[in-house]
Amino acid sequence: MSFGDFVENREKDIGGNDLAVRKIVTYPAEILEEPCETVTEFDKKLVKLLNDMYDTMIEFDGVGLAAPQIGIRKRIAVVDIDDENGTIELINPEIIETGGEQTGPEGCLSFPGLYGEVTRPFTVKIKAQDRKGKSFTLEADDFLARAIQHEIDHLDGVLFTSKVNRYLEEEELEGLESE
Ligand SMILES: [Zn+2]
Repeated sequence: MSFGDFVENREKDIGGNDLAVRKIVTYPAEILEEPCETVTEFDKKLVKLLNDMYDTMIEFDGVGLAAPQIGIRKRIAVVDIDDENGTIELINPEIIETGGEQTGPEGCLSFPGLYGEVTRPFTVKIKAQDRKGKSFTLEADDFLARAIQHEIDHLDGVLFTSKVNRYLEEEELEGLESE
């Protein structure tokens, strides 16, 4: 199986731009359990990759997507929980502080149809770089903090299934989105 291929039927978005939706790597796959490499080049290729990751996340109704999920072993993730933060692009993200605790349902685009309850810190402070290589810090709580931690775990080869307390049944799943 080859990873990172383009899906054949490209479509256009409302603005007439080409959508480039990539294939999602689903479990089991080695790349999902390997640590990713630090990004050192902030070039056009990176911009294209980030744009494709966004298109792919939206196409599959995700709230986040990490590069290894489309077959790329690099420390890159996008998160968009449809709140006022918009799309957050995380390059070489690192958690620098966590606080509190939350337990809630979680899913993953690499585990279609699988949902489980996961306990994570309620707040998180991270440091990352943007698409131009500029460093920034970000503080998040609640669901955004959960989504960010889920994606950073992917970059370390850690899957949410290793943190699930209890898997959820279909009737408990109304309206849940995957990461
Ligand atoms: Zn995931």
